[in-house]
Amino acid sequence: MRLERLMELGKQHSKCPQCGSSKIGGGSGMIYVDDTTFRRTCKCGWKVEVKEEGGSKTHANISS
Ligand SMILES: [Zn+2]
Repeated sequence: MRLERLMELGKQHSKCPQCGSSKIGGGSGMIYVDDTTFRRTCKCGWKVEVKEEGGSKTHANISS
């Protein structure tokens, strides 16, 4: 996953919509990232997972 995209997602999901916690680590929450997946979990049980398609599909939405 590209760093730009990663930072965007990190910003979007920095705060838990359920309990408002923005803490990571120490048993409060976790961020997991690999090439195609961004996952953010919270101690309250909330979690979000974003999957990015790799490679050429990234540009599939550009119509011009
Ligand atoms: Zn939470």
